[in-house]
Amino acid sequence: DTLSNKIAAGEVVERPASVVKELVENAIDAKSTSIRVDVKDGGLASIRVLDNGNGIEPDDRETAFLRHATSKIKHDHDLFRIKTLGFRGEALPSIASVSKLTLKTSSDGLSGETLSFEAGKLTERVSSSARKGTEIIVEELFFNTPARLKYVKTIHTELGHITDVMNRMALAHPTIAFTLTHESHTLLETSGKGDLLRVIAAIYGVNMAKKMIPFQAESLDYKVTGFLARPEVTRANRSYMSTVINGRFVKNYAMMRAIQAGYHTLLPIGKYPVVVLHVEMNPLLVDVNVHPSKLEVRLSKEQAMEELIRDAIAARFKEETL
Ligand code: ADP
Ligand code: MG
Repeated sequence: DTLSNKIAAGEVVERPASVVKELVENAIDAKSTSIRVDVKDGGLASIRVLDNGNGIEPDDRETAFLRHATSKIKHDHDLFRIKTLGFRGEALPSIASVSKLTLKTSSDGLSGETLSFEAGKLTERVSSSARKGTEIIVEELFFNTPARLKYVKTIHTELGHITDVMNRMALAHPTIAFTLTHESHTLLETSGKGDLLRVIAAIYGVNMAKKMIPFQAESLDYKVTGFLARPEVTRANRSYMSTVINGRFVKNYAMMRAIQAGYHTLLPIGKYPVVVLHVEMNPLLVDVNVHPSKLEVRLSKEQAMEELIRDAIAARFKEETL
């Protein structure tokens, strides 16, 4: 019902950037190769996410807005080998319950529909253009939750959070072309050609990309790839250490620790490196069902991964100085 959706929204939809994150994750799960996000007023006036993915089948268009209606988990045991970014079936109903939402979708490129929702209630369902993929427009976010609206910060701050979300998505998915605009200013544009270093250049600048070296390490359970900045390039905080597990941008303390340990004495005290690391591992070894934001994960065999990363980074820099 709409009340429990509104309550769930409190957890899932903290701010405009949470809407962007959930909608873009859905677009990625739908196998899109191109995802465009346009926002107005820091996302408070409107957030539009346009993808070229699989679309939503006619029968699923209304159910997608029911709580816990996910197409991604069919059996209990699927929960232990999650390959999609979403699985809780909470985002669409939560977002719809606190906004005016329009869904345009076509799953076959032949016929499409537009559904409109207000505060989670379907107000209109009509046939529309048949471009394959999905477009979701979220307008007047939090219009019916004044307390949450008050908590939202300045446009500048909200836009910063949205940019962070999009940068992370782009770093995690170099094979997807991402565009982010705010009131016709382009804030991010990636080609989707799969070149991680080009994505790094788009986000951190060409000069930073030039100072990064490729990295690779592999064991039976893990495959780690990515780029490491030369040790003389340091930052005052950990936010330039990006870690991605199976296409999901994560905050994982063990990985952070392993990276720092790999640089070891090369880093001055209180300084952090610039790193983008991708780990591919058996989904059975990752528990993503820790928090609704899905940013934290629990890993089995965490220590083995830590050692692999630490030793391979240390060896990489030894190699460099030879
Ligand atoms: P979850 O992602 O956890 O399954 P959501 O509430 O985010 O739950 O989405 C509900 C369902 O709507 C998804 O399982 C998916 O079937 C469908 N869906 C949402 N967004 C898209 C999209 N952009 N393209 C295709 N299907 C989508
Ligand atoms: Mg989702």
